[in-house]
Amino acid sequence: MSESLAGAALALLQETVAQHPAVAFASSFGAEDMVVMDLISRNRLPIEIFTLDTGRLPEQTYALIARACEHYRTRVRVMFPDSQSVEDWVRVNGINAFYDSQAQRRGCCAVRKVAPLARALAGKGAWVTGLRREQAPTRSAVEAVEHDAVHGLPKINPLVDWTETQVRDYLRAHQVPYNALHDQGYPSIGCAPCTRAVAPGEDPRSGRWWWEAPSGKECGLHPAGLAKLSDRTESAA
Ligand code: SF4
Repeated sequence: MSESLAGAALALLQETVAQHPAVAFASSFGAEDMVVMDLISRNRLPIEIFTLDTGRLPEQTYALIARACEHYRTRVRVMFPDSQSVEDWVRVNGINAFYDSQAQRRGCCAVRKVAPLARALAGKGAWVTGLRREQAPTRSAVEAVEHDAVHGLPKINPLVDWTETQVRDYLRAHQVPYNALHDQGYPSIGCAPCTRAVAPGEDPRSGRWWWEAPSGKECGLHPAGLAKLSDRTESAA
């Protein structure tokens, strides 16, 4: 594990809190987010950690949230979707309508993830994510420091250059708690009905929304990646 890599990520987080008030970290409790949580917690950085409970998360993710809070002796802010919006969406579309089309799937993500994210970021000065370029085609152009035009905030991605191996090495070296599903073939973990295990060597992102094309696999939390990919695709055509 390269300590200079971790040092650079920590320096970016420290710089962020020095420059911006009310910094928040959006965690899905995936492997990358556990690295960021470890850096924040061990260094007592004044960054609020929040997560989006869509109501459809795997049990293993809830277990990790509880374990991580105990490990770091901290609490995280859990954002829930607006219950009326979920009820309305399910009444109109059906309980598992996200399997029917990409539009339906994005509709579910909009209600369960995107709207709660906007509430979590209201009044914040900057937000931090665990995005890595290597994770998906939609993330290949992510920068360490970006401007999030949707929320009108700086968006900080301290692990942007990290490889999957470096993430794993960090977790091991620092004995960071992680989701039990990672040891069962789940490199990327989201909602239970939209995530499955992948075979060794398979694209890590192929276990998410496996019924959709790789170029559209974002839930709406990071729309800039989709826009950049579409720009590149159009200019290459
Ligand atoms: S990942 Fe699946 S269940 Fe979760 S919010 Fe998106 S469509 Fe709905």
